[in-house]
Amino acid sequence: VLANPLRPVLLAAGRSPRLGRTVSRLGLTRRVVDRFVPGESERSVVEAAAALLASGRFVSVDHLGEDTTDAAQAEATVQAYLSLLRAYADLPVPAGSAVPALEISLKLSALGQALPGNGDEVALANARTLCRAADAAGVWVNVDAEDHTTTDATLAVVRALREDHPTVATVLQAYLHRTEDDCRSLAGTGSRVRLCKGAYAEPASVAFQGAAEVDASYARCLEVLMRGAGYPMVASHDPALIDAALALVTETGRGPDDYEFQMLYGIRDAEQRRLVAEGHHVRVYTPYGDQWYGYFMRRLAERPANLVFFLRSLVSR
Ligand code: FAD
Repeated sequence: VLANPLRPVLLAAGRSPRLGRTVSRLGLTRRVVDRFVPGESERSVVEAAAALLASGRFVSVDHLGEDTTDAAQAEATVQAYLSLLRAYADLPVPAGSAVPALEISLKLSALGQALPGNGDEVALANARTLCRAADAAGVWVNVDAEDHTTTDATLAVVRALREDHPTVATVLQAYLHRTEDDCRSLAGTGSRVRLCKGAYAEPASVAFQGAAEVDASYARCLEVLMRGAGYPMVASHDPALIDAALALVTETGRGPDDYEFQMLYGIRDAEQRRLVAEGHHVRVYTPYGDQWYGYFMRRLAERPANLVFFLRSLVSR
């Protein structure tokens, strides 16, 4: 995950609003972006979700956008999610499933967390609005993890949300030194945790830097969650970690409704289908919207082959 020498450059570029505007204006990227983002409109993501449900997969939709710096933009994000939740009502969810097939994934920075002064309160109030609407619709809510400067504030918001909405999930990133401890405190009954490797550029003071160290940390965290009483969500495309999760599922005697796998839209589609065919729940994180730049750059940073594909699309226009 961290072996790509261009990773820090791509992640830094992914946080530059100016570069983002330029790349988005070029219009050249659509074909490449389409692989990871089914579209900019709500309609496109609802269609993608319907197709995923038809194939037996579950869905978590993310309305793209992050690092919001004005309250009006945060409010627009809330409205987009409320509209999405209404659109969810038309989707053919599997009857009698113990696990909700539909989820929304929120980024607190898109809900106002970075606003000066009372950002955390604004983000919490906005997240509460969405949790209430999601509960009423029988939809799960997940709060995504962003860079390490927000971890404490995000976990505090999640704890507050869980008082009224106990199924609210959060994400822990195995590359952070602190995460094994966070897994221990969040492995209790009913607690839903999405475990991923982590997608941001983080300093050595807080995060493991080598791929082998991150993988080892992921394996330790996975073990804590699987041996705990919560609902682990294994968010990785890494074959070795998927195997480790499968072994722990067997060893701990978890039933099919006691955990799930999660992967990103457009990545390892055949593996997603294989796991479903073997009886596991697989939820696909499916983003939509016009703010795809930061998300797209993190996907490029994860895999040099994606960058080659992207550069090729530039020269073959
Ligand atoms: P890697 O070692 O990166 O990849 C293993 C294999 O998977 C690769 O060899 C390749 O075959 C395939 N693969 C991985 N990435 C790609 C790609 N981009 N394109 C093509 N093939 C690829 N990160 C956060 O920081 N916060 C979050 O809230 C968050 N939510 C996530 C939710 C889900 C459902 C998933 C799956 C990931 C999420 N991530 C999040 C991203 C995560 O942290 C990793 O950056 C990403 O998943 C890549 O790590 P990996 O575990 O797949 O392992």
